[in-house]
Amino acid sequence: MGRRNAPQRAPEETSLSDCIFCQIAAGRIPAKKVGETTHVYAFRDNNPQAPTHVLLIPKEHVADSAADLGPQHAIMLTELFGLAAKIARDERLELGWRLVTNVGPEAGQSVYHLHVHLLGGRSLRWPPG
Ligand code: 5GP
Ligand code: ZN
Repeated sequence: MGRRNAPQRAPEETSLSDCIFCQIAAGRIPAKKVGETTHVYAFRDNNPQAPTHVLLIPKEHVADSAADLGPQHAIMLTELFGLAAKIARDERLELGWRLVTNVGPEAGQSVYHLHVHLLGGRSLRWPPG
């Protein structure tokens, strides 16, 4: 690992204006919106891994991943979890659903703008791969 406070931006991402999720949140790249709150935007993953596969992101690029979260993000995170539960209700996932956030390359993180996956609509194995 690098310096403790070194930015975790992926090497190919040179600025926030290049960040695909910043552009989706700003409406500059189209996405299938599922819901939003003051600080959170939810849209369908374009490579779904389950019948419901929604990504929940902070509208502002406040963290590259869950590794960067702190008490200053409490309101956004409360909104994010609340919106996830609302979407799960709306999509009738009463049999079960899962929130996942990948951190770093070994976990498969490919976009370095904090995001939480909401998965449901099929049986989900545990442990995940
Ligand atoms: P990660 O691999 O970082 O945990 O998750 C990133 C997710 O973003 C992937 O599931 C990928 O399919 C999704 N994704 C990447 N680019 C886009 C995009 O332009 N639009 C949408 N809707 N999803 C995207
Ligand atoms: Zn971003």
